[in-house]
Amino acid sequence: MRLEGRVAIITGAASGIGRATAIRFAADGAAVMIADIDRAGGEACAREISAAGGRALFVETDVSRESDLRAMIDAALQTYGRLDILHNNAFRNEAGAAADITAQDWQATLDVTLTAVWQASKLVIPHLLRSPAGVILNTASVHSIVGLTNSAAYQAAKGGVLSLTRALALELAPTVRVVAILPGSIATPANLSVPADEHRHFVSQVPLARMGQPEEIADVAAFLASDEASYITGTGIVVDGGYTTR
Ligand code: NAD
Repeated sequence: MRLEGRVAIITGAASGIGRATAIRFAADGAAVMIADIDRAGGEACAREISAAGGRALFVETDVSRESDLRAMIDAALQTYGRLDILHNNAFRNEAGAAADITAQDWQATLDVTLTAVWQASKLVIPHLLRSPAGVILNTASVHSIVGLTNSAAYQAAKGGVLSLTRALALELAPTVRVVAILPGSIATPANLSVPADEHRHFVSQVPLARMGQPEEIADVAAFLASDEASYITGTGIVVDGGYTTR
C-alpha cells in the first residue's frame, strides 16, 4: 500500500473532499488525523475508516486558532508517534463582491482559507523535516487561477494558497514536497448549496460535462502524497474536467 506507515493530518476532513481523502489515505495504509470543527461529521468519518479496518482519529480543530492547530499536531504525534503528511483543506467563503464585503467577513475568510495554511505548515515543518517522505498538500481551487464573481475574499485566499505552496516548496526542498490541488466543480455539500441555475451554468462550461466527485480529488491527493509523485513539488495540479482549458 502506497501510504503504509505514514501519518497524515487532514483539515476539513468531516465532509466533502477532506472526508474522501481521509478514507482514501487510510485505505492506502496511512494513519489519519481528521481535524475539523464538525465533531459529528469528523467522528462519523473516523468510525467509517475504523470499521473498514483503517486507522483514524478525530480531533476537534478550528484551523483559525493557533492553539487548536498545536493541539491537533500534538494529538497526531502522541497517538501515532510521527507525522509525514499535512493536507490543508479546510476553507471558509464569506461571499461578497470586493465593493461590498465587510472587513470582518474578509478577515474571517482569509483566516481559515489562507492564514491557517501558513500557520499549520509552520507548526508541522520541524516534524516533516524528520520524515523521509514529508509532504504538505494544499487544497487550492481553479479560482486560484481564473476569475469568480462575488467571492473576492475566497478568490484572494485561494490565489494566496497557490503562491504560498510555491514559497514553501522552495523553502523546504529538497526534504519536504509541497503541492497544491486545484479542484474545479466537485459534488460536495459546500458546492451543492450553490443555486441551481448558477450551478447548471458552471457545469455547462466543463468539457467533461459533469461535476467531479470528491473521490476523484482524493485519488489525486493520495498520488501526490505518495512516493509515486516524488519529483513533483511547488506546483498546482488542476483537476477540473477541463474547465480551465477554455
Ligand atoms: P465541505 O464543506 O464539504 O468541507 C469543508 C470542511 O471544512 C467541513 O467539514 C467544515 O466543517 C470544515 N471547516 C470549515 N471551517 C473550518 C475551520 N475553521 N476549521 C476546521 N475545519 C473547518 O467543502 P469541500 O467542497 O469538500 O471543500 C474542501 C476544499 O476544497 C476547500 O478548500 C475548498 O475551497 C476546495 N474546493 C472545493 C471545490 C468544490 O467544488 N467543492 C472547488 C474548488 C476548491
